[in-house]
Amino acid sequence: MTFKVGITGGIGSGKSTVAQVFSTLGVPVYYADDAAKHIMNVNPEVKQAIVGIFGEDVYEGGTLQRKVLSSKVFNDKNKLAQLNAIVHPATIRFGNEWLARQTYPYAIKEAALLFETGTAAQLNFIIGVYAPDALRIHRVMERDNVSRELVKQRMEKQIQEQIKMRLCDAVIVNNDQEMVIPQVLALHEQLLERAKAKDQTT
Ligand code: ATP
Repeated sequence: MTFKVGITGGIGSGKSTVAQVFSTLGVPVYYADDAAKHIMNVNPEVKQAIVGIFGEDVYEGGTLQRKVLSSKVFNDKNKLAQLNAIVHPATIRFGNEWLARQTYPYAIKEAALLFETGTAAQLNFIIGVYAPDALRIHRVMERDNVSRELVKQRMEKQIQEQIKMRLCDAVIVNNDQEMVIPQVLALHEQLLERAKAKDQTT
């Protein structure tokens, strides 16, 4: 069975960027956020549950109207929790099924909420991606063309970065000083070794 690795970090820390570097090395990567969006568009049970709570108008021609759904959960903790209760378990289940199909020595799940959802417990090794708050805010404002306030609001909903990083087995520093690729290459070697060692003990 493939060695299961998680990549996590706060909004704008560079999780997807780091995961893409692993992907170019040939490592299979599951992007939880993309998977969740896909599942909300194609999975009949998930779609039915979402319509049951949020109404028919969140889909148009079978396609999720993300802005309509966002407006319904925005600033409504209860509704957001209901949505997460539908989408998170399905995303985790599909992720686990995907992991079980992988044949590469190790495979990666990239997700912002590995600890918050309890997924971390099912993984063998967790990589944290760390960037200072100011840089994360700047990068997300640029990437999503959104205001500082909106990024800060999103950040406040997540576990503090320092706490999250202490829970990880390794940390990639993605600030403007450290180079990312050498850090990924070193971890890649380490993960291949660990996967081999685990394979020999099972
Ligand atoms: P989210 O949680 O919002 O999905 P994320 O942690 O996956 O974010 P990315 O999307 O990888 O973060 O990075 C945020 C933005 O910062 C992107 O536009 C990305 O291109 C840029 N970025 C990330 N790392 C670097 C870097 N080392 N140098 C320059 N730009 C970077």
